[in-house]
Order: sequence, then structure tokens, then C-alpha cells
Amino acid sequence: MLHTVPAFDRIGEENAFAVLARATALAQSGKDVINLGIGQPDFRTPDHIVEAAIKALRDGHHGYTPATGLLATREAVVRRTLTMTDIEVSPENVMILPGGKPTMYAAIIMFGEPGAEILYPDPGFPIYRSMIEFTGAKPVPVPIREENGFAFSAEETLSLITDRTRLLILNSPANPTGGVTPKEEIDKLVAGLERFPEVAILSDEIYDVMTYDGERHTSLLTYPSIRDRLIVLNGWSKTWAMTGWRMGWSIWPDALYDKVRKLAVNCWSCVNAPSQFAGIAAIDGPQDDVEKMMRAFDARRKIVVEGLNALPGVTCATPKGAFYAFPNIKQTGRKAKQLASDLLEKQGVALIGGPDFGILGEGYVRLSYANSEENILRALERTERFLTQD
Ligand code: PLP
Repeated sequence: MLHTVPAFDRIGEENAFAVLARATALAQSGKDVINLGIGQPDFRTPDHIVEAAIKALRDGHHGYTPATGLLATREAVVRRTLTMTDIEVSPENVMILPGGKPTMYAAIIMFGEPGAEILYPDPGFPIYRSMIEFTGAKPVPVPIREENGFAFSAEETLSLITDRTRLLILNSPANPTGGVTPKEEIDKLVAGLERFPEVAILSDEIYDVMTYDGERHTSLLTYPSIRDRLIVLNGWSKTWAMTGWRMGWSIWPDALYDKVRKLAVNCWSCVNAPSQFAGIAAIDGPQDDVEKMMRAFDARRKIVVEGLNALPGVTCATPKGAFYAFPNIKQTGRKAKQLASDLLEKQGVALIGGPDFGILGEGYVRLSYANSEENILRALERTERFLTQD
């Protein structure tokens, strides 16, 4: 009998990967599967980004890089941050990591321990809760409500802070709801946070560029009063269709930067050089492909919302960001995870049950519209067939 530490009995998962595996297995067995489950752009990484990685390898960039990332890549992040937020950060506060998740991991293990409380959005990205539980800290869900446009409420968030709260996790634009929290609400939250100077903040802004209908993302970086305890998570995965490259960045306050650098040295040493050169090309190169992708997502978003609202028992609020719809299925009388699983097995449509994103996800499913219009329409047809006939 091996005695692993109890933390490994508490660690959770991201069910989107299990659904992807099942959808792939069904497809390999000959079933026609439409995958609206996984959260990754269906576009290819733009050519000039791929070429930059190939060139880097040809130029001999095959060795270790600094644990914090190449200075040139960190400087590219500084430029990108300035363009997006008007805030000039120092490259000495920028970390390059293998994807967005390692920042989550680093921030949560830095603040989580038995007796501590960490606030996280529910429904929200499942890894937040999983990692909080891993550390032994108490996960405290911040409800993200449909009636509030799937934005977080400053008042409710602040009301959940206790003297044991160490970290508050925020995410806008949000997975799985597509919610974008308005600036006024963030203003209120930050004003309230001034009363709790010992609470660190992890702001997951990985979908920052993905907003619609003139909606604008507000970065937490634009609030000087919390900068000394703010970690901003971002990355290349979604914006430049680079999920498999494992390229993320984050901005850390001075007091924490050396801690995360040391964690990197211990865990992954560094991010591979060709990906970092690709990351520079992504930031500094033409953004036409990003704009093209966003126009496609916007068109699909409209099709998805209209199609979902026409289904019996389903209502769908218009998502303002990311590339997810989070329809309310309560009136179908079905449980969300059962519906997701039946729909995949019987109709070959993969989506994710809301409870995979938290307790408040019951009554909802997440559908990623990172798929072709044709496939989205076919999936909607099949879902209608399923809801009316099964
Ligand atoms: N944060 C959010 C809100 C996400 O939705 C995701 C991916 O789905 C990530 C972080 C992780 O991104 P990465 O694949 O770069 O680790």
C-alpha cells in the first residue's frame, strides 16, 4: 500500500478533458460527434507565429531560458499590457509560464493552507476550487448569478471576506458563463477591498480581448490601490489560438515575484524558447487573424443564442465575452450532467454540464461556440430532436 499525502485525494479535475476523451473515442468508433465541449479556438495558430517558432529553432534556440522567461518575451508582454490597459508594468514583474494554469497553481499554493479561506467564482473555472482543496484551504464560492448578467457582485463578494480570507479569485470575461463584469462593479469592489489590505487578488484575464457588443474589459491592473497584492493571469492560449503551445504570462507584485520565480525553477525550469519567440511574434505581429476569429465568434454567438432560445425549456442570456454560452435548462426538467451525457451518447453532441463548474452550475450547460457555423446548426438541430423525442 502506497501512502500518498491526503492532498491528492482532494485534487479535482477539469471535466472538459474527460468529455473530450469520450467524444474522441466515440468519433474513432465511427460516430459523427460535434464537439462543443472543449474551450479552445478552432482556428489554427496564425502562420507568422508558427514561422517565428520554427525560425527560433533553426537559429539554435534550443536550450534553457531564464525561469521568469526571456527578457524579450517579457518586454513584449509589457507592450501588450500597455496597449490593452494603458498601464506600464515592469518586465521585472512579468513571468512567462507554461500556460495560464501554472499561474493559478502558483498563486493558490502560495496562499492556501488549512485554516485559510480562498474566494472563487461559482460557476467558474473548475481548477480554482480543485487547487484550493489541494492546499487544504477552505474554498468559499462567490455566487455568479444569471440575474446579475453573470457578473460578480461587489457587495456579495465583499460580504464573504473574513479575517481568514487570504486570496480572492476573479475572472472576467468569464468561463463558463461568458459574463463580463462592468467597470462600475469593479470600482465598487476595489473600493471595498481597500478595507482588507491582507487579501491578495488573482485576476484571471485570459479572455481580455474577447468581448462583444462594444463591451470593454476592465483590467484590475488599472487600480493602483491594489497593485501591491494583485496577480494578473493572462496568456496566449485563447487570443492567438495557441492552447497546445502552453504559453502563459502573469504580472506579479514585487513581494511575490521571487517566490514564483523559485517555484518555476523547482517545477518546470523555464518555458521552451521557440514558444517564447512565437509569443513575441503573436504580440508584435499583425492582429488580423485575432480580429477575424473574433468576428467569427461574434457571428456564431448570435446563431447559438437564437438557436438555444428556440429550444423547448431552454433560455439563453446573450454572453458578452469569451466564446461560451451558458443556457438555462431548468425548464426541461432534466439534470444538467445527465443531459450532457445523454446528448453525447445518443446524439453525438458534446457539451459540459454546469455542475462541472460549481454547485450553482446546476440547471445550466456550457457550450463552446469554437466550432463551425455548420456544426453549431447541426448540434442545435440534434439537441432539439433530443429534447422533443427522448
Ligand atoms: N483561465 C480560464 C478562465 C480558462 O478558461 C482557461 C482555459 O480554459 C485557463 C485559465 C487556462 O488556460 P491555459 O490552457 O493557457 O492553461
